[in-house]
Amino acid sequence: MAEETIFSKIIRKEIPADIVYQDDLITAFRDINPRAPSHILIIPNKLIPTVNDIETEDEVTMGRMFTVARKLAKEEGIDKDGYRLIMNCNVHSGQEIYHIHMHLVGGHFLGPMLIG
Ligand code: 5GP
Repeated sequence: MAEETIFSKIIRKEIPADIVYQDDLITAFRDINPRAPSHILIIPNKLIPTVNDIETEDEVTMGRMFTVARKLAKEEGIDKDGYRLIMNCNVHSGQEIYHIHMHLVGGHFLGPMLIG
């Protein structure tokens, strides 16, 4: 059984966060340390520690993460100019919170994707 992170407490509203979307599968909230004018974290309500732990039964949830990203990008007004979706996995990526999350970042020109 994976260890819960602070994100489980955010899902259950036990600690404050600026939640912008929530349904039966997904919660989305603003990153506490935004790296762009729009920086939202989209996470499954189910605790999945890393991308390596995604199961076939999670495919609907993974798809929902993208449709929520699309909806929120439109609401943020960044859908036309563009944005980036990022998921980090394990140490080499710099993953800090072991509850998978999609970063939705945009609102200004992001430049080329830096690798390393
Ligand atoms: P990672 O590096 O794991 O891909 O990203 C973790 C993200 O979670 C970071 O961008 C960090 O700022 C954000 N974060 C960490 N703790 C909290 C928190 O308690 N609340 C919110 N809203 N964001 C957090």
